[in-house]
Amino acid sequence: MGIDIWVERRPGGRGAPGALTEPAPVLQESSEQDHSRTVDVVRAARPESIIRSDASPNWQQLRREVSACQACPLHETRTQTVFGVGNENADWLFVGEAPGADEDAQGEPFVGRAGKLLNAMLFALGLAREQVFIANVLKCRPPNNRDPRPDEVAACEHFLRDQISLIKPRIIVALGRHAAHNLLKTDQPLSRMRGKIHTYENTPLIVTYHPAYLLRSPAEKAKAWADLCMAQKQVSAS
Ligand code: URA
Repeated sequence: MGIDIWVERRPGGRGAPGALTEPAPVLQESSEQDHSRTVDVVRAARPESIIRSDASPNWQQLRREVSACQACPLHETRTQTVFGVGNENADWLFVGEAPGADEDAQGEPFVGRAGKLLNAMLFALGLAREQVFIANVLKCRPPNNRDPRPDEVAACEHFLRDQISLIKPRIIVALGRHAAHNLLKTDQPLSRMRGKIHTYENTPLIVTYHPAYLLRSPAEKAKAWADLCMAQKQVSAS
């Protein structure tokens, strides 16, 4: 059983002009498989040793804080934290929901089936996984892959905010409704968030389908491709 992947339509990579055209790329089989808690409450749950007063952390501090985090109950069930992976100066930041079983085991986001599809999406854009940064709203796996809970999101979101401040991406791609709702502070359905350029603290942001959803609903891949083309145009124009 294979996974449909996008195949690159053109050479070129990061920031390459020429842009992507709207038609969906060729698909082929692959053998590869109330955010109501206040910051103070969150801070109270963090070990004294990693509480900062005001300044933004650097990468090293942030990695240490994430790996030591006990701000929500997910620390009790995780194998390890999943910080994020990629180029710390990336133009493109992809934000998913939360680690799954594979990610919890390996300590890296999007390494399972959905990750393989994400890699194919990147390839079709002319981007290597190493060129972009990939992170999640939650840094720990919710048991049984359940949806993130509001208290977990509230406890974790400062990490993503700090990651975005450090990366300074030219585009943020929110993968799925959880990422979009968290970053845009809205509860609109995904269908209403797609197809437009939003902003997250002055950084352009687009919303598209989560790769896991696309595995279940391959007919939506053309729409996801259109979203990525829009993001590519935005990056090229910036
Ligand atoms: N789904 C996500 O949202 N993130 C991952 O890292 C893996 C699957």
